[in-house]
Amino acid sequence: MTVLVVGSVALDSVETPFGRADDALGGSATYFAASASHHTPVQLVGVVGNDYPMDKLRVLEARGVDLSGLEQADGESFRWRGRYRHDLNSAETLETRLGVFSHFRPKIPAQFKRAKYVFLGNIDPRLQIEVLSQVDKPKLVACDTMNFWIESRRDDLIQLLGKVDLITLNDAEARQLTGEANLVRAARWIMARGPKTVVIKKGEHGAFMFHADRVFFAPAYPLDSVFDPTGAGDSFAGGFMGYLAKTDDLSEANLRRAVVYGSVMGSFVVEGFSITRLLEIGSDDIARRVAEFHRLVSVDALV
Ligand code: AMP
Repeated sequence: MTVLVVGSVALDSVETPFGRADDALGGSATYFAASASHHTPVQLVGVVGNDYPMDKLRVLEARGVDLSGLEQADGESFRWRGRYRHDLNSAETLETRLGVFSHFRPKIPAQFKRAKYVFLGNIDPRLQIEVLSQVDKPKLVACDTMNFWIESRRDDLIQLLGKVDLITLNDAEARQLTGEANLVRAARWIMARGPKTVVIKKGEHGAFMFHADRVFFAPAYPLDSVFDPTGAGDSFAGGFMGYLAKTDDLSEANLRRAVVYGSVMGSFVVEGFSITRLLEIGSDDIARRVAEFHRLVSVDALV
């Protein structure tokens, strides 16, 4: 099954303790698509300005990403500038320039409307809601968000929660959105407003999945060098949703497997700037890391 993603397609300028990149390919939809396309075909909806290096983005087409829903509008592309200091778990946003995103109205092409798996990547929640009104009964709708939108569009975001099956967000965002310091209570607060499943990512400390009254936890894959954490969340979502769409199975056991695929894809992207690592790896690399992950968390019967 294909997965439809709507999100930002950005030019990112990022500084980490290990180097910097300027105007590199980024954005929630870009990372998501580069990751999910390792598992299943992807349909992407977004907007870029006329300054966007489309030739660089076209590599995604070769990987099975349909870019026919990517609009090119007059004006500047969305730009995000961020910095990571020694704590690679939290990005400091230095600048967000919405550019063509400030006038964007998503138009879902007719051939995308019947997507069964929909991911509303991190963009204005009003646009995320607009997308949902244009698709026909998806089997699973998931969304993501970030502090920028929690601060500026809180009411819209809470309205969106009533329309999605699943949300992925990081621990700081979950605390900010719910006002609950405790993540179990934060997940409960979110579930009371709509989503049946809540995935809370904790960067290098792994990810929790709350589903009905059960909790699953997967550690992050232990890497000996993390180069640039940008896009880890979206690549996690791409691995998670891509795996679910490929297997078309929403049982709890499969949701747990999807968390592992999400963690594995997140672990690759942080090894380089932008989407570089996601373009280099192949199915063997993914299978090897999934197997290592399995060994990492396996234990003989304890009693
Ligand atoms: P993450 O996966 O959480 O590290 O997300 C990183 C991506 O989010 C970067 O490539 C940014 O371009 C993008 N981004 C940053 N701020 C925003 C925003 N306010 N809306 C949409 N996308 C954003």
